[in-house]
Amino acid sequence: MVWKLSQSPRVSQVYCLPGNGGICQEATCVAGDPKTVDGLLAAAQQVQPDITVVGPELPLSLGVVDEFSRRGLRIFGPTQAATQLESSKSFAKEFMQRHNIPTAHYAVCESEEEIRKSLGLFSLPVVVKADGLAAGKGVVIAATKEEAALAGARMLSGDLLGFPAARVVLEEFLRGDELSFLVLSDGERVAPLVASQDHKRIGEGDTGVNTGGMGAYSTDALADDALVEWLLNHIARPVVQGMKSEDAEYRGILYCGLMITTRGPMVLEFNCRFGDPETQAVLMRLESDLLEAIEASIEGRVSDGLFKWSGDASCCVVVASGGYPGSFVSGREIAGLDRAAHLDNVKVFHAGTSLRDGRFYSSGGRVLGVTARAPKLEDAVDKAYQAVDCISFEDMYYRRDIGARALKQRT
Ligand code: AMP
Repeated sequence: MVWKLSQSPRVSQVYCLPGNGGICQEATCVAGDPKTVDGLLAAAQQVQPDITVVGPELPLSLGVVDEFSRRGLRIFGPTQAATQLESSKSFAKEFMQRHNIPTAHYAVCESEEEIRKSLGLFSLPVVVKADGLAAGKGVVIAATKEEAALAGARMLSGDLLGFPAARVVLEEFLRGDELSFLVLSDGERVAPLVASQDHKRIGEGDTGVNTGGMGAYSTDALADDALVEWLLNHIARPVVQGMKSEDAEYRGILYCGLMITTRGPMVLEFNCRFGDPETQAVLMRLESDLLEAIEASIEGRVSDGLFKWSGDASCCVVVASGGYPGSFVSGREIAGLDRAAHLDNVKVFHAGTSLRDGRFYSSGGRVLGVTARAPKLEDAVDKAYQAVDCISFEDMYYRRDIGARALKQRT
């Protein structure tokens, strides 16, 4: 987002709180606490931005948009009430039921006893979700009812995620292809972004535990005009109208995580912001001004022609620290970033990096989002892996099959 906003002819300066080693080369990084509204207010008082764009979900769920708006500060994103679509899985499920938005069957449980009782209503495998922000790690797909009950109990106790979930949502397991469909809303109207597909599991062939996302790609072939129109009419517009009717007007990016099933597209989850790593793939294709779009959302001017997209495909390969999403070692020196940066139509987005004395070091689970663009998806994928091949650090891990399913389907 920093990279794209910096390209706007109307943007003279971008500040980022807290930023990372890579972002500090494109924007002015501001020290402070990004996890509290007070920390964000202090940063805004320091740099006096004309507009604040919220990246992650935590400050949205804490009401940063409400507080900034109360103080007359321009800010992009949904309010605390509207963010419940992401911050509470049970709110999202009940909201979808109230507004006839297609989603998997579910049960909301508050105790292990309730979980064990409700499991009788589901066939296997069954999906167990913690109610709360869990950075993509609060979902377990259980092969047996015992596994589901234990996972649910560990979510409630805090054992699984490090915080106790107030509720657990049990969900029917849906089969199909996943699709990430993002729209921009001004509270009333929506404009679609190009569709993308994430790869949530840690292992190749979509195996192993769920992560925040190990890679993504975007191509027009993912969703034709008829599908986009259907998704707007049956999902995006009903969500925005439904939130308005519940006095929780939705402004900002609405990310719909979907499963395209034999019963039609169904919502797996909502995010109230650009998702990671889909954003890297999607913004790589954006040819128009992101600032214009953000202002249209704030000012109630979202319209059909708001975004201009490249017809190219894009692919983002996430490079992670070995061990992620479990424990991993940080502080590994990263080599080869310069070589990767010199490749055409490649952008290496930094996630968990720090910069010391001109050298980059890993500082998180997901370290880099290596992203490439090309007219054909296979070339975008090849180019992204060519860039990954330039980069190395100890225990570096990445999936080698990002985009592979789409390529296989076409051959
Ligand atoms: P969520 O955070 O709810 O999107 O879940 C994370 C991931 O778990 C999704 O991207 C899917 O891969 C998987 N998942 C979640 N819900 C279901 C479901 N009902 N059926 C099948 N897979 C699911």
